[in-house]
Amino acid sequence: MEMKAFEFATAQRIRFGWGVLEESGSIASTLGRRAFLVRGKKHPDLPRLMDLLDQSRVSVVEFVVTEEPSVDLVRQAVAQARAAGCDCVIGFGGGSVLDTAKAVSALLTNTGCLEDYLEVVGQGQALEVLAAPCLAIPTTAGTGSEVTRNAVLGVPEAGVKVSLRSHLMLPTVALVDPALTCSLPPKITAYTGMDALTQVLEPYVSVRANPMTDLFCREGLQRASWALLAAFKDGNDKDARTAMTWVSLLGGLALANAGLGAVHGLAAPIGGMFKAPHGAICARLLPLVTRVNLQALRNRQPENPILERYHEIARWLTRREEAQAEDGVTWLEEMVDILDIPGLGAYGMTHEHIPTIVERGLRASSMKANPIALTAEELTMILEEAL
Ligand code: NAD
Repeated sequence: MEMKAFEFATAQRIRFGWGVLEESGSIASTLGRRAFLVRGKKHPDLPRLMDLLDQSRVSVVEFVVTEEPSVDLVRQAVAQARAAGCDCVIGFGGGSVLDTAKAVSALLTNTGCLEDYLEVVGQGQALEVLAAPCLAIPTTAGTGSEVTRNAVLGVPEAGVKVSLRSHLMLPTVALVDPALTCSLPPKITAYTGMDALTQVLEPYVSVRANPMTDLFCREGLQRASWALLAAFKDGNDKDARTAMTWVSLLGGLALANAGLGAVHGLAAPIGGMFKAPHGAICARLLPLVTRVNLQALRNRQPENPILERYHEIARWLTRREEAQAEDGVTWLEEMVDILDIPGLGAYGMTHEHIPTIVERGLRASSMKANPIALTAEELTMILEEAL
């Protein structure tokens, strides 16, 4: 069998399991003495984390992130972490928190300002030095940011999201405890869960898919087929929470090494232009993009072997051996209905915004990994339906 060359990179260490938060203090103490702790508003296990850090004699400087991070917010965080002389970073929260933590850890060791290392709003220089030690502890099951090499930052004035990206900023330790996701309300479980699903689906049909990411995607799609709805219906379902946290981790491993596709290509400008949760945008777009990709491949590249992958996806999602590619799209559409995912009009997007989103989406890095180059007309059709 011919096997194409590939690279695979991830966090230095991954610790996964129910209750592993208990190890956070001892792990943190191996990374530094004075931690910059980036966290969300509040979490029922935050006091426990603080206790554990205290017992391990790790002092903390706290920084609270309440929304998806902007370049401005991260600039402030970096200034505080540098001024406080922190030697390591801990992120305890959703993707917004983890991305902020990762960006801060990169800027603690690399000199200069954030913009030096960003494209679109800066020089796009490459990071030169390994980021400061970073412990990433996710509390949502969605982004997989604990094992990815980028931090997504909004630039509201330019209406885009940009990524600070380097293999030098992969977290040192990903401490993944599914119990931390039990406090998520159903709406955020739905949005972040659909993001996790998107991140095991897009890399599976990505032009950069590789044999290693294929393994993760297959496992992730099979688990999400039952666990997404189960976690939405009962937030205390331990098996479902564990499975979705696993899917999210698998998605991070896959996307960081195989890229994504048109869902994320469009989500980047939409997320930059409107205050819409990233997961909700992905959820709304996923069935629409999947249907259009399938049609475009059949019409323009009927021999493309990726088409067979859409059949596999359908079989795994529906858990029916005889399922055809369309059945997979129908399953995704039904999921959007059941999870009550809003149209993007709810966030202020109108028909007038579509040409700008299409233009920016065509330039987005994720778009390059889509299984087939979609036309401006096809992207417009997707966005019209997503309203
Ligand atoms: P989020 O971090 O923005 O959190 C969503 C909401 O959930 C927030 O209000 C938060 O306070 C709350 N929350 C988090 N954990 C909770 C818990 N356990 N209980 C109750 N409430 C909780 O959402 P997200 O979807 O995890 O992250 C989105 C961000 O991640 C976006 O900016 C997106 O672009 C980015 N992202 C990054 C990557 C990457 O690889 N770096 C991948 C995908 C998405």
